[in-house]
Amino acid sequence: MAHSSDTPLKIALVGNPNSGKTTLFNALTGSSQHVGNWPGVTVDKKEGRARQGGREATVIDLPGVYSLAPYTSEEVVTRDYLVIEEPDVIINIIDATNIERNLYLSTQLLDIGVPQVIALNMMDLVRKHGDEVDIEGLSSELGVPVVEISALRGTGLQQLLQQAFEAADEGIPPFFNRKFSYRVEDALAKIAKIIYGAVPPEHLRWYAIKFFERDERIWAGAALDAEHKRQEDYTAHRALLGQIEGIVAGCEAQLDDTAPSIITGESYDFVERVIARTVNRTVEERTTSEKIDAVVTHRLFGLPLFVVLIFAIYYVSVTLVGGIVTGFMNHTFIGHWIQEPLMSALTRGGAAVWLRSLIVDGIIGGVGAVISFIPQMIVLFLLLALLEDCGYMSRIAFLLDRVFRRFGMSGRSFIPLLISTGCGVPAIMSARTIEQESERRMTILTATFMPCSAKLPLIALIAGVVFGGVWWVAPSAYFLGITSVVLSGLILKKLKRFKSKISPFVLELPAYHWPTARNVALSVWDRISSFVKKAFTIILLLSIAVWFLSRFGFEGGSFVMVSSLDHSLVAHIGDLFAWVFIPLGFGNWRATIASLLGFTAKEQIVSVIGILTSGQGVRTSAPSVLALFGGQKVAGYAFMAFNLLCIPCVVAVSTMISEMKSRSWALFTLAYQLSWSYAVALMIYQFGMLMVTGRFGVGTIAAVVVLAGMLFALLRPASKAPEDKTTPGVVLS
Ligand code: GDP
Ligand code: MG
Repeated sequence: MAHSSDTPLKIALVGNPNSGKTTLFNALTGSSQHVGNWPGVTVDKKEGRARQGGREATVIDLPGVYSLAPYTSEEVVTRDYLVIEEPDVIINIIDATNIERNLYLSTQLLDIGVPQVIALNMMDLVRKHGDEVDIEGLSSELGVPVVEISALRGTGLQQLLQQAFEAADEGIPPFFNRKFSYRVEDALAKIAKIIYGAVPPEHLRWYAIKFFERDERIWAGAALDAEHKRQEDYTAHRALLGQIEGIVAGCEAQLDDTAPSIITGESYDFVERVIARTVNRTVEERTTSEKIDAVVTHRLFGLPLFVVLIFAIYYVSVTLVGGIVTGFMNHTFIGHWIQEPLMSALTRGGAAVWLRSLIVDGIIGGVGAVISFIPQMIVLFLLLALLEDCGYMSRIAFLLDRVFRRFGMSGRSFIPLLISTGCGVPAIMSARTIEQESERRMTILTATFMPCSAKLPLIALIAGVVFGGVWWVAPSAYFLGITSVVLSGLILKKLKRFKSKISPFVLELPAYHWPTARNVALSVWDRISSFVKKAFTIILLLSIAVWFLSRFGFEGGSFVMVSSLDHSLVAHIGDLFAWVFIPLGFGNWRATIASLLGFTAKEQIVSVIGILTSGQGVRTSAPSVLALFGGQKVAGYAFMAFNLLCIPCVVAVSTMISEMKSRSWALFTLAYQLSWSYAVALMIYQFGMLMVTGRFGVGTIAAVVVLAGMLFALLRPASKAPEDKTTPGVVLS
């Protein structure tokens, strides 16, 4: 249908984010713009007037998208506008410096069946680089006019408008001669036959592809439509949908892949072929970033490389630096330089026994136990910040996206998990950027499995003191966290409450660059500062409280400063709960109190151990710590595992409760974290003891039962997915 020349044309600008749409829009429309919101969503709606050769057009700047999948509100707004409101012509703006990714969107636009023109933008940059694009070749490959422009310089704009007007006047959709592989084409033809007459004829191929891709909005629309029919029509309608499903499933079986990924894969193949024929890259075939990426994001080596890097970072910071510096901090700095002189000064000054004990054991012992870990934390966060700032971590988010998808999350969850290695509170908050509810909740639930900075002293204590600095203990804590995230994801995504589709993860990968000192310093400071602040506030107060409760109690019927900590108040409190931890190997009051106080702040665990294993001038020693675990290293490891994976500190818990926005979800999360940590620690201790000492008992049987339960939860079939989004209806007749 040709457009009559007296009403203004509607020109829609479509393109990837950062392709230069806004620049082009401003250049075309000058000052005549209105900005508003699309009805129902908070996405910018911009309209303006463009004039050329005495004619006028309304230009609509659609939200930038990477594809026309129905996942983000930008994508939904854009495709609904194109398919339902139907502009007279589309200007598809392509960033020519990034032609591969931009052409991927083009393949989808070309299928829609609306007249269009391609604006090849940023040609100034391409030329500067010395690359060449065969414009005519590209135009004939894609079946639409292609115009070179530079939106920034304002070149080629008149010709672009001219071509757009012509395309609109002719009203002929592109002759897009892209063929999928013959099995897909066969399926598409069959689907087209079924839906023929039910959809606007110019969009027939687009709808057929969307049905094939199992596009949830199209399917839900068709299903919804069926509900409004009379009984006999309803049955016929459902039968037709069943036929389509059969065609898609058949093709999936033949090609051994899912329909959406068949389409995506073949589209990228197509784009590659077109580029090979039309783009001539003169200078350097691959940039440095691309060369690094070829290794770093390699399908096989990418993840193992990441594992090795993380291992190395933990090894260097916790084991190497931690072993040397923390020992120095603890014994020489705090012990010899502070505690000892202070003790003798206080004694000379005639201070009371309780005052000496309060200052030396309580305050300096408690706070000192925590701050002596600061040097290794600085090294750890420095190394992590370097990886983050140079751009490596965003690659990992991409790599992990594929993996995370299998357990109800996506690459988006990686950032919260990464932040969680500093502190769980901002990590939980950062999950806000995940739109998909169940994915967001899964991320919040699992984020605090990662070892945060406050848990680091505990890891260092177990690795250094209990295991005598064995190389694998500290890094293994990190992987205990990751494994818990992964396994929990696999188990939980089968529950109905977590069931839903995970939207694709799109992220611009910045080119690698040298980290800046400022960014790195800021990031380290960000993670350390709250730790330092806590040490001198809450940890200080709690240390005094723990000191008081552990140094006083009833002896011989009166309330006195006790001669043995076993008679103290805290010993009695600990004894009340200690039985709970007997199956985990640390059922004594000291370890119990340390674990319980860990809920106030995880640093407190080490601080409590410091206070409870020292006294009367005797400082915490390796044997006194090992004694907490009955002399068994494996019990020490179980203690670490329990406290790493258990419910986080109160601040993180309250953040979690408010971010979950639902009491039942918060309760579920707490219950899950508690059970998970208990189960893991139980298995570690029981199976560990079986291997180390050959001990087999009731506890071992309990651990076997727990393991079996876990395997069942992992392997059982998932619950059925509920129907999710609906909208624009497609009428099948
Ligand atoms: P949008 O996200 O698609 O709206 O993209 P913008 O219009 O905001 O452009 C993204 C960036 O590309 C901005 O920094 C623009 O200045 C720049 N840009 C846009 N068009 C051109 C161009 O033709 N040449 C060059 N060199 N830069 C451009
Ligand atoms: Mg923009």
